[in-house]
Amino acid sequence: MIGRALAGLALAALVSFVARRTRSLTSSGAIAATVVGTLAVAAGWSWGALLIVYFATSAALSHVGKEVKERRTASIVAKGGARDATQVLANGAMFAAAAVVATIRPDVRWIALGAGSLAASAADTWSTEIGTLYGDTPRSILTWRRVPVGTSGGVSAIGTLAGIAGAMFVALVVAALGWTWIVASYAMVGGVAGALLDSVLGATVQSRRRCDTCNRETEHIVHDCGAATHNVKGFRWIDNDMVNFLSSAAGGLIAAMLSR
Ligand SMILES: [Zn+2]
Repeated sequence: MIGRALAGLALAALVSFVARRTRSLTSSGAIAATVVGTLAVAAGWSWGALLIVYFATSAALSHVGKEVKERRTASIVAKGGARDATQVLANGAMFAAAAVVATIRPDVRWIALGAGSLAASAADTWSTEIGTLYGDTPRSILTWRRVPVGTSGGVSAIGTLAGIAGAMFVALVVAALGWTWIVASYAMVGGVAGALLDSVLGATVQSRRRCDTCNRETEHIVHDCGAATHNVKGFRWIDNDMVNFLSSAAGGLIAAMLSR
């Protein structure tokens, strides 16, 4: 296990370095990804393979139509482009925790926990990246009113289908890695449920701020016009990263409970 962990560290550092150079990760994001990757490979090569496939597809989807997406959402979303450590951990912390517990005490529940959390993260990433680029005007999952592209809790038909495809993709990789079709199906259920929770939390408890100068809603603390914004809805301390973490964790826990 120690030898595998060291090999994992070398591989994770290499992948993170390349991701840093291609602007998929910031420096802090690369460090966080190296930690998550090392813990994954320590649990087993299949854990590492699942993480790399998830990460490579997410990074590729983020790069497709990057400029268009940034133009569409820059005024609303707080973070764009390269992922920092908080974003990496929001999507990978539950997976890393599952890997650690699986290393100490192997059990199908921890495999389901890791697979379900990554499926939820993939579902959210795929729906955001594809929905922002190809979806029509999203509607709030709660009020069904039209909201600007990039608004948390906003859903579109294309984005929703992309999210289901993302969870299904992770489930298929899980099955291909030999983690059984039953665990793959639990991951699929957890992934879709997690993505749904992401939208509900995004529309309810997530902090929504407002720029009075532009008369627009945003997630920025300081708007891109330079004016300070103020919290108008949700809890000030629940940002997009926190919602992503809760959704990924929920996806994993649902899959783990199904596998008992
Ligand atoms: Zn403004």
